[in-house]
This record gives sequence, structure tokens and C-alpha cells, in this order.
Amino acid sequence: MSDCLFCRIVARQIPAEVVYEDDLALAFKDVDPQAPTHVLVVPKRHIPALSETTDDDAALLGHLQRVACRISKDNALSGGFRVVANNGRGAGQSVDHLHYHVLGGRAMKWPPG
Ligand code: AMP
Repeated sequence: MSDCLFCRIVARQIPAEVVYEDDLALAFKDVDPQAPTHVLVVPKRHIPALSETTDDDAALLGHLQRVACRISKDNALSGGFRVVANNGRGAGQSVDHLHYHVLGGRAMKWPPG
């Protein structure tokens, strides 16, 4: 989608600090990090939100989580990390392109705010 921020990052029309890429996914540093490690993992295909996925996307969703694990290893987050998908405005989703936040490098509280 031409007007989607993360599609434009995937297309390299907007700069981002990319830390991982493959045929299906891109991972880049969040511009406003909420933890020492804060990486966003996105599918290259435009999907507006987790709730917009179908059973056909199950393998892709699994792949994105495997990428999140890879990010945790690359950043030596052996003490723990958090993977978050905000879905919908009420949950804090501000960019309508599916993404997983990978957060680590500090103690995490529960429940999240
Ligand atoms: P969410 O609020 O869950 O939709 O997450 C969107 C995330 O995208 C936020 O954590 C933002 O800081 C991040 N973000 C917004 N614009 C950019 C950008 N140009 N490059 C990297 N991260 C961004």
C-alpha cells in the first residue's frame, strides 16, 4: 500500500535501521524505543492488523515469531524478552500494518499498561 508507513519502509522509500530481512519479513529498530532493544518485525505483505489475518496466514505468523526469536538471540536477550502485537486503537495500535514489537534489555512489568 503506497500510503502505508511500514510498506514504505519495506520498499526502502523511508529510511529505517534494518536488522534482519528475508523474503517474507523485515525487522527494524523502533524509532521511539521503549527498551534498550526495541525491534519491529513486519510482514513484507500489507496486512492491516493481526485480526485481519486468516488461516492461510498461519505459516507467515509463525515465521514472524521465529524472526522475533532470532532478534532476541542476536541481541543476547537471554534474560527474557517480550513480543507484543497491539491490535486496534484501543490497544495502542498506531500503524495499520501488522507488526510485532520485540522488547528486551530491561525488566518487564505485568500487567502491561
Ligand atoms: P503500534 O503503536 O503498536 O502501532 O506501534 C507502532 C510503532 O512504530 C511505534 O512503536 C512507533 O514508535 C514505531 N514507528 C513509527 N514510525 C516509525 C519509523 N519511521 N521507523 C521505525 N519505527 C517507527
